[in-house]
Amino acid sequence: MSLAQKLAQERRARLAAERMLELKQAELSSANRKLGRHAMALTKRIGETQAEVETVRGENEKVKSDLTVANAKIEVAERRLWHSIQTIQDGFAFFDGDSRLISANTAYLSVFEGLDEVAPGISYSRILELLTSEGIVDLGAENASEWCCRMQRRWSRANPPPEVIQLWNGQYIRLIDQRGSGGDVVSLALNITASVRHEAELQAARDRAEAANRAKSAFLANMSHEIRTPMNGIVGMTELLSETPMDEEQRLYVNTIRNSGEALLVIINDVLDYSKIEADKLILHPEQFDLERCILEVAMLLQPSVRDKGLTLLMDYDLFLPTLFVGDPGRVRQVLTNLVGNAVKFTTEGHVLIRVTGVPHPDQQHCDIHIAIEDTGIGIEADKIGHIFGEFNQVEDERNRQFEGTGLGLAITKRLITMMGGTVWVESELGQGSCFGFRISLPTAEGPQPVPPDLDGRLKNVMVVEDLAVNRAILEKQLSRMGAEVTVCASGSEALSKLDASIDLILCDHDLPDMDGLELATTLKDRGWADLPLVIMSANPGVIHANAARQLIDGVLQKPIPRAELYSRLIALGSAALSPEPTAEPEHEALVEGGRLMRVLAAEDNRTNQLILRKMVKDLNIELRFAGNGIEAVEAYHDFAPDLIFMDISMPKMDGKQATAEIRRQEVETGHHVPIVALTAHAMAGDDQGILSAGLDHYLTKPLHKKLIHQMILDHRPDGTAPITPETD
Ligand code: ADP
Repeated sequence: MSLAQKLAQERRARLAAERMLELKQAELSSANRKLGRHAMALTKRIGETQAEVETVRGENEKVKSDLTVANAKIEVAERRLWHSIQTIQDGFAFFDGDSRLISANTAYLSVFEGLDEVAPGISYSRILELLTSEGIVDLGAENASEWCCRMQRRWSRANPPPEVIQLWNGQYIRLIDQRGSGGDVVSLALNITASVRHEAELQAARDRAEAANRAKSAFLANMSHEIRTPMNGIVGMTELLSETPMDEEQRLYVNTIRNSGEALLVIINDVLDYSKIEADKLILHPEQFDLERCILEVAMLLQPSVRDKGLTLLMDYDLFLPTLFVGDPGRVRQVLTNLVGNAVKFTTEGHVLIRVTGVPHPDQQHCDIHIAIEDTGIGIEADKIGHIFGEFNQVEDERNRQFEGTGLGLAITKRLITMMGGTVWVESELGQGSCFGFRISLPTAEGPQPVPPDLDGRLKNVMVVEDLAVNRAILEKQLSRMGAEVTVCASGSEALSKLDASIDLILCDHDLPDMDGLELATTLKDRGWADLPLVIMSANPGVIHANAARQLIDGVLQKPIPRAELYSRLIALGSAALSPEPTAEPEHEALVEGGRLMRVLAAEDNRTNQLILRKMVKDLNIELRFAGNGIEAVEAYHDFAPDLIFMDISMPKMDGKQATAEIRRQEVETGHHVPIVALTAHAMAGDDQGILSAGLDHYLTKPLHKKLIHQMILDHRPDGTAPITPETD
């Protein structure tokens, strides 16, 4: 190889090496640059980390100081808490999950004074043992181990119920233990001695007050009872005195005495009942009774005021509701007398309707009975309704002040119905009228219940002539349920215009707007309808019996009409309509002139009452005999064969109920029923229960009223006896 070639080769090699060097240098500087950037980033991160570390360090410092502050605060709080716990008079303790005492305040520990064992670490069961063995707790009748077991069982419950224990020194402690989530128990032992003593004192004071109240009520009840007997004499005598010749001034005095006496008797009766309820002396005496009859008796009792005020008293007794129930008839009657009496008292025109409905229980042995008394009276303002059932509460306003009353009636009614397990309600609209009602559930009694008869086509079409729409509706409902077609008329002239051959019977109200029932009967006779049976409905049958036109009609039904009475009358008339030769109506015979005197027996032991009764009937054409007790009454029933008996209930030797029961027993043989009217001091008092179940037919309360006595006699005058009063002719 030439030199030149060698040189060229070397130059090329050098150039290659130089290029290589250059390349490596470039790579190196690039690597340097990367390194530089990396170092820069690292430096920055280190800086940041250093800053973070600074911050955390700062924070740590703060937390540390906060913790110190917090600890200090906790310490203070704990100290204060414990101080407070120590200060309270009640015991306070903590137990751990194993029921060992952690800590307790002085009050808690003071109970165990002298027992060093009671200190943190002691178990709850040991505390119980110490309480009994050291005689700290008064166990009463319980023995120690029973008591410990019972307390231990209580302690083991998740939420132990509070327990009151009595300590040896008579202090009462209420233990309240609260279990926490970790099983720890906080125990509070509250000293309730003061409140227990206070409660006992209160109870004793209440007992004393109640006893005093009962004694007061018993005293009032006795007093009222004692006042009532002479009052009956006073009222009865003034009634008689008022019939003797007197000048105007004397009459005014006597009437004032009588009216005041009667008003006083009403008040006394109310006070007597209320006192009895208050003195817990009032007990219900359930027995079998006839609800419908009970209501009718109340209606009869109130009939004189109804008549005087020109009102109409109606009853709508659900046709399919039984009448025999088991309850306290005296008290049911009292409630009805209050409600119906109020309805009559607070109504000046229109009517009072007693509506009785009922639903039998599914067991068929009870009935829910609803009795509502609707009136068209003065009504009650809405804001007064709430308070009328309270004691001595009356609606105080102009219109109301004219009515007398004690304001006790509704309070007694409510108490009685509540005692019977029922409820009372009232709806009223001022100026429109009121509806008072009550609901009671009574067991149905065994016995024949009146069932609406099927007229079986005997009376196809009955005409009802009645001006009062509500009574028209009641009769229409009752008659159509019996299968009759009903033609209703509101007046006598409407009846005359609607009359045709399809009518089988006319049921006519006596007091019609255009003519009375007897005038209608006379007109019918004149127009050739003499054979068409006509029955008059009247609240005052005596007036009809006393009228000569009475012979034109086929009977009188006393309003409100008992269902059984309506049924039997319709059945009788229906049968007569089918019979080719109708039998004479017995009522016609009553008009025969002369005949023997009606015999009336009065069983009454009290001389004053005998005198009153004798004077009251002195103008009647009857034969009156007295019996001084029940035994004499039964004897007189044989010897005298009375047509009517007035029977006092409380009599010596044999009382009125026993005498009546005896007479009824003997009647089974004779088959003849003599009407017996109970005369009793206070119809509603609980001691009169059983009167009706003893077989008495009617009920009159003392003081006796001449009008009612006369009415009773007139209503029961048998056929074929001489007229009782001159007008009866
Ligand atoms: P009394 O009738 O003796 O005043 P009650 O307790 O029977 O007492 O009645 C309380 C009051 O309720 C009555 O004074 C009267 O204001 C009102 N009241 C009761 N029944 C009726 C009624 N049917 N219509 C209007 N107000 C009545």
